[in-house]
Amino acid sequence: MDWMTPLLSWYHENARDLPWRRTRDGYAVWISEIMLQQTRVAAVIPYYERFLGELPDVTALATVEDDRLHKLWEGLGYYSRARNLKKAAGEIVSRFGGSMPRRYDELLTLSGIGEYTAGAIASIAFGEAVPAVDGNVLRVYARLFGVARDIRDPAFKKEVRAFLLPLVPKDQPGVFNAALMELGATVCLPNGQPKCAECPVRSDCVAYRENRTAELPVLSAKKARRTERKTVFALTIEGQLVGFRRPDSGLLAGLWQLPETDGELTDVECAFWLGEHGIAPVGELRFYERKHIFTHIEWHMRVCAAEVSAKTLPEGWRLLDESHALPTAYRVCL
Ligand code: SF4
Repeated sequence: MDWMTPLLSWYHENARDLPWRRTRDGYAVWISEIMLQQTRVAAVIPYYERFLGELPDVTALATVEDDRLHKLWEGLGYYSRARNLKKAAGEIVSRFGGSMPRRYDELLTLSGIGEYTAGAIASIAFGEAVPAVDGNVLRVYARLFGVARDIRDPAFKKEVRAFLLPLVPKDQPGVFNAALMELGATVCLPNGQPKCAECPVRSDCVAYRENRTAELPVLSAKKARRTERKTVFALTIEGQLVGFRRPDSGLLAGLWQLPETDGELTDVECAFWLGEHGIAPVGELRFYERKHIFTHIEWHMRVCAAEVSAKTLPEGWRLLDESHALPTAYRVCL
């Protein structure tokens, strides 16, 4: 394949110096790969460093308190990733004696590890010649070979993986996978914006040759997000926020939240709601609007903020401090 040699030389000269690229430790590579799902590189770096500083190995992760784990993840979003990390760490302790499994098929059996992540860890940390096909690789493939197929179609992903499998070089599988992903992340950019003039595989690229870079890759429409309206209470008692723990399953499971109710209450209804919960405002109630977007849901929130007093807080409510992980969806209300 003519495009592979220039791709690899380009990567050796142009790869970004990222903290997880300075290690071949399987645990560290795993953590970085999970954090990088749905999250920008620049946002991940400080989280990655803090996480590895506090939880340096599988055993530390398997035994960490949930609140501490959530705190280390606070602001990264998609908290199920963190819960799956801890679950998988427990599986590694019980089934692999606490040592990171090295093989693709073993990695695939762990919670939260799919084909992409298993491929990335096995190839980058342990030198197994398997592909790691993420969204960047799918986009590069579709353009390089001029394939007008929906890159969100799982069947297409399967085909790309099958195509790449025999091509992954045995002497540098991790570098090959990282190079393809890096090309997609820094040169073959999405939304019709590839920097073809800087691209090492330009002379082999069908989309470039046929002037089709704007129409490739083909993307099926995403499902529309559902909107939920709610009223959130940002209440403080002597400056300390009030909240309670969310249920152990569902959206933002096990994290902390501000009090809330469905629908958008009027000013008068908010005052009434506080009274019903045995809470007396100290000074004026303030009202404002906030929005938070999850993958499938949008929260449109009317926020009622106030310094309050209460003889007793409703059951389960607490004064929150820095040890309580409050997700961004609620932080935006402060
Ligand atoms: S030439 Fe352009 S479209 Fe083709 S792989 Fe390179 S950046 Fe992507």
